[in-house]
Amino acid sequence: MKKQLSRVLLAVMLTAGFTFSCKEEFLIPKEDDAATSSVATENARRSSPDVDYEVSHEVSGTTWTYTITKSNTSKHPGHFIINFGNCDAESPTIENIVSASVNGIDWSGKISDSEGRTGCIPSSFNFVKFDDLDCANQYIIAFTLDTLYSAVPSQGWIKAGPSCVSKALIGPGCRGYTLTSTLDADPAIAGKPYNQINTYMKTYGFDYSEHPNCSGGYGGHIDGVHADAVSDIYFNKSVFRFDIHIDPVMDGDRCSAGTVDRQRNEMKSITNNTTWAKVQGNWDEWQILEWKFKLPSGFQPTQNFCHIHQLKAQDGPNNGSPVITITPRANSDGTNKRMQIIHSVDGASTGKGTVVNDIPLSAFEDEWVQVREEMHYTHNGYYSCKITRISDGQVLINFTDTNIDMWRIGSSYIRHKYGIYRSLAGGRLDQTPVGQSPLLKNESILVTDFRVYEKNTNPEPGTPH
Ligand SMILES: [Zn+2]
Repeated sequence: MKKQLSRVLLAVMLTAGFTFSCKEEFLIPKEDDAATSSVATENARRSSPDVDYEVSHEVSGTTWTYTITKSNTSKHPGHFIINFGNCDAESPTIENIVSASVNGIDWSGKISDSEGRTGCIPSSFNFVKFDDLDCANQYIIAFTLDTLYSAVPSQGWIKAGPSCVSKALIGPGCRGYTLTSTLDADPAIAGKPYNQINTYMKTYGFDYSEHPNCSGGYGGHIDGVHADAVSDIYFNKSVFRFDIHIDPVMDGDRCSAGTVDRQRNEMKSITNNTTWAKVQGNWDEWQILEWKFKLPSGFQPTQNFCHIHQLKAQDGPNNGSPVITITPRANSDGTNKRMQIIHSVDGASTGKGTVVNDIPLSAFEDEWVQVREEMHYTHNGYYSCKITRISDGQVLINFTDTNIDMWRIGSSYIRHKYGIYRSLAGGRLDQTPVGQSPLLKNESILVTDFRVYEKNTNPEPGTPH
């Protein structure tokens, strides 16, 4: 009992001291604010330990969350400002915020679109300020908007004492995205044959029709397990698992007798461009794709292709190679394992090639990552891909190209695919021995939490362009 009481006393004393030092910071005269316009002062403050904050952000549907973590020596922030003016007239304003919170507490009465006397100098006239932040070491600032907005590079400001520091952040961009489909793995499909997984996925606008559960040609075994729903301990729920085999049967490409130099095991947006056009990339549409994946420790790519995601035209004369791939790659001796993003356009000189090439695969191995891609499907299009490691919030890839050819001439829709589609790296299933790269072994990938958003919906999605 005595011990408990002393603990309580200690806690009270600590809290009192903490609160006092925190309040003290707000006694600093407002006059100091004028100094923030000085570039020299600003630079000095940037390197000052009293304004050292980590800010991470997450966008989930219509809810935007910013986590501000202060260093031990930093002052407590009084205000947080986020720039909303990222898409001209299509930007949200404070009027589009339907709820706001700080550390879980309703903050809707403490937000404003006026800079007030913070001394911060926002780069636009359209911003939202969270006032009266209380004493804490971490602030989870969240707001929910009235509809979906694209996530774009933006800016935030943190006001602490006399200082105002600017942070590069993701903020809400253009209004108008709608969620068109979601897909998660129901535990009820665990252990079910491939055709039942296909049936399940079709009800969500996806399908599982390109796999080695086949006969004839090369590389099929009808009873092989290539897809399943498995329990994941990190999320404590079911996720999809896809497997590709070297042993005991070397998988091929849908039992093709002609395409014998590769292996394919992919799920994708459904082969349907009418009722499910809303999950496809149609001409001039904008699309956001979100999903999570996890590669096992020791995942081994080769020097040849190994796509775990593709954006690929379904139809038209130029649908052979994908528009975008996410591709683990290694040197011929298996070293230099890295993650790539590759852009290509058939028959045109606008392909940009390997646009991301230097992200070590070790950053991904045995880790769940969140992917968020945004596309504008046109010749002078838009592509961005952000991949965030979930365990520590580390952004592993953050690529944006605002003028990139995202279309295939003669096509009507572009699908999105997930799984493992890889080269046998020198091997051919129609020769003995096959002669594949000795690096190749059985591999798997876990995927979950698919979300598809669309904007600027094409009213005639079946028309080729
Ligand atoms: Zn197999």
